Amino acid sequence: MTPRTSALLASIAAAVLTCIAAATPSRAADIQLTPVVADVLWPPQPVRGSDSQVHLVYELRLSNPTPFAIAVDTIEVLDETGRVVLAMDKDAIGKRLSIGGRRGAEATSLSPGQFGVLFMHAALPPNQPAPRSLSHRVLAALVQPDQPARPVAMTIGETRVAEHDLPVLGPPLVGEGYVAADGCCDSIRHVRALLPIDGRFALAQRFAIDWEQLDADRRVVRGDVKKVESYIIFGTDVIAVADGTVVAMRNDLPEQVPGALPPGLPIDQADGNFVVLDIGRGAFALFAHMQPGSVTVQPGATVKRGDVLGKVGNTGNSQAPHLHFHVMDGPSPLLANGIPYVIDRFRLTAVGAGGTADFDKAEATGSPMTLKAIADKPQLERLLPMDLSVVDFSR
Ligand SMILES: [Zn+2]
Repeated sequence: MTPRTSALLASIAAAVLTCIAAATPSRAADIQLTPVVADVLWPPQPVRGSDSQVHLVYELRLSNPTPFAIAVDTIEVLDETGRVVLAMDKDAIGKRLSIGGRRGAEATSLSPGQFGVLFMHAALPPNQPAPRSLSHRVLAALVQPDQPARPVAMTIGETRVAEHDLPVLGPPLVGEGYVAADGCCDSIRHVRALLPIDGRFALAQRFAIDWEQLDADRRVVRGDVKKVESYIIFGTDVIAVADGTVVAMRNDLPEQVPGALPPGLPIDQADGNFVVLDIGRGAFALFAHMQPGSVTVQPGATVKRGDVLGKVGNTGNSQAPHLHFHVMDGPSPLLANGIPYVIDRFRLTAVGAGGTADFDKAEATGSPMTLKAIADKPQLERLLPMDLSVVDFSR
């Protein structure tokens, strides 16, 4: 690089910095240099949960195109009227902004050229209408060595809110005491399973639930925790949640020994023995980790709601027998985009009171789960069971 081009680049960088630092919060019509570029990976689709709130779950990618570090201080999510539907402080951002979209790489600042994915969850009160669009008011600071931080503000990352009708489904299991583990919307194993596949991001598991079952003593497992037969849910019939057509299945993978995820499993074996059901209107249901030899349906078969598809097992990337269930917008459990759904009828009997850690302990050791009973055990209709709900399903 000649001294002249080097000087030119330095002056451009200085101009960008001056413009950015001088920028004020924008009105929609303003044109503004922004030191952060934002895009929403998929427009959110609201869903009403068993807590009566309406939930918006989506991913906001934040990129830093500048030669400076950027510390993100606060983010407010605004609806189309300018009302704040979610306010995130630095602490909240630091728990949800994953550098490169990688779970476990959380931060509150972006290095030059770096991007992060902010995993968003806004819960709206029951009587508040869902927004039609969202944007993000970001307060940040440009950070350079030996200089005071320069505050910047911008409103970016506008997205529409999707308005499709949600699939209304029957239950995937029948019986009492089912626990919705790693469910919507703040547990992280499913909702942050953002995968770089075939040159793009995919997040099929956004609304997935790992169903376990409790016995009368609130235990997931009784006896030897290394034996699949010790788990209450093991061998339970998995049933079709809607009329549909089988588009994919697998039936030949062996049971894993409970207690740890199997090491080195190829990604195409992650779901173990599974069924993907085309349930119409662009929605597909995945039932995963079933017992070897238990899957009763073949690709092309049509099934009716309630038909048995197989039995709950511990195959694939699974460390305890459970049913992984999710709905997505395509037939591939890896490539599709996860969409919300509701179950037409279920009874809510309790909610886990000790968080995911308490559930994990119950699953790993056989200790009773810590539950908060729900008064009157209401029969709920057309809602998504929230994380750690305990429910009864009838046909
Ligand atoms: Zn799962």
